[in-house]
Amino acid sequence: MRRTGVDTIVIGAGAAGLAAARALSDGGRDVVVLEARPRIGGRIFTLHDPEWPLPVELGPEFLHGEAKATRDIARAAGLAVVELPDGHVWAEDGRLRPMGEVWTRFGRLLERIPTKGPDVSFARFLAQRRVPAPTREMARLFVEGYFAAHVDRVSAQSIASAGGESDESQRQYRLAAGYFAVVEWLRAGLRPERCEVRRACIVESVRWRRGGVDVGYRSAGGTQTRTLRARTAVVTLPLGVLKAAPSEAGAVRFDPVPAALRGAVQKLEVSHVCKLVLRFREAFWDDPGFFRRRAGRALGEPNRIDFIHDRKGDFPTWWTANPWRVPVVTAWAGGPSADALRELPETALVDRALASLGRALGVPRPRLEDLLESWRTHDWRRDPYSRGAYSYVGVGGLPAQRALTRPCEDTLFFAGEASEPEEMGTVAGAIASGQRAARQVLSAPARTGAARAPARSGRSPRRDRGRS
Ligand SMILES: Cc1cc2nc3c(=O)[nH]c(=O)nc-3n(C[C@H](O)[C@H](O)[C@H](O)COP(=O)(O)OP(=O)(O)OC[C@H]3O[C@@H](n4cnc5c(N)ncnc54)[C@H](O)[C@@H]3O)c2cc1C
Repeated sequence: MRRTGVDTIVIGAGAAGLAAARALSDGGRDVVVLEARPRIGGRIFTLHDPEWPLPVELGPEFLHGEAKATRDIARAAGLAVVELPDGHVWAEDGRLRPMGEVWTRFGRLLERIPTKGPDVSFARFLAQRRVPAPTREMARLFVEGYFAAHVDRVSAQSIASAGGESDESQRQYRLAAGYFAVVEWLRAGLRPERCEVRRACIVESVRWRRGGVDVGYRSAGGTQTRTLRARTAVVTLPLGVLKAAPSEAGAVRFDPVPAALRGAVQKLEVSHVCKLVLRFREAFWDDPGFFRRRAGRALGEPNRIDFIHDRKGDFPTWWTANPWRVPVVTAWAGGPSADALRELPETALVDRALASLGRALGVPRPRLEDLLESWRTHDWRRDPYSRGAYSYVGVGGLPAQRALTRPCEDTLFFAGEASEPEEMGTVAGAIASGQRAARQVLSAPARTGAARAPARSGRSPRRDRGRS
């Protein structure tokens, strides 16, 4: 049944949108979620393919550090969380060199970033400080790989605030059932009498004034625009979509454009990554001698290796599924390395990946080709409903990010990973931002009666005139 009275429209059914909708419907609000894709989950995109020995994550895969909001859900849903060994090595032409306690070293470096005073780029911060060459190299790799940022554009202060101090903040985990289990838990908790999720509904416009929002949307494949009216809206569109030019697919027109949105579009940056998951016939690296032969005694415990970094490769970072012993490895390029791969078709990416892996680990290319069985990837940059992987803060952009967390006239509320200063670019941040937006909606001053019509609209309030 289509509802006609709506308190809040949530735009986007990713982690942030579903978290907001769940909290709002729990709080007694009537909610409609409009989602452009035929599926929910947004950038959480887990494939369950019987030919693969584990869920394939085309989007997020790790819980970084405490990841409180995700942990809370995992606990409530009874989901198994597995800690990664998180052992990092440098690879160079088939030789491996342990990187030691990378997170501790990275954390110490971040402590040297002044958090008061003028912000600078991370590149400039590095240039202004005496930093040993290996630490400098590791820091660039992490900022480009982990944050998928350009070191000359990313705010050093934002990177400093992303570094946690506790031991827990330096640990990495995976969800055994795959990340989609979190999405499923959020969806299952939406109260059916109060919340409806409409898939394949592409939002095109948001017209608003204090106390009223008209959201224009059309169904995928359709041309007719429909309008849904509510008192408030929670906007969880990815930064890449918020930045899209009006003529681009998925773009949304705001009328008027909130000042906070203008600032965010100018000061926040979209991160790009290329993630390619490869399945081999056998895990040729899963033999203690494999890593030892390439690293010698310095290696320590070979079972602890899961991240392999290669400065020269097209894919500078690789990881195995450790602690699971399966023949799957993931190739990862972030920031400038992802930019360099942007025009390549999928088969060329696989070609580059095999060349990279072969050179890094000293495994002959024909052997890799013979062992390769399958691969999976998703082009998040070209996907019109993400237009990038996640976000980072540009130099001097922290105030713009904070502004995005504040309600606009108690009517529009922004959420999504880009709007979460503490855990930007993560699932935990997205969930926390959705929950924050829901709290803001629930505590906004109540207005009596139906949603007020935005300017220039004489239509009846609280009525979905699109479908019934
Ligand atoms: C390859 C990759 C790897 C990642 N790895 C990790 C990781 O290991 N750990 C981690 O914590 N995070 C990781 N992330 C980041 C994480 O996936 C995101 O931070 C998080 O999923 C974002 O959630 P969100 O709700 O903010 O946005 P989304 O999930 O993007 O949700 C926004 C929703 O809006 C919808 N939408 C877009 N345009 C429109 C429109 N016009 N009309 C209607 N709906 C629209 C989209 O379809 C989408 O469903 C990764 C991301 C990628 C791409």
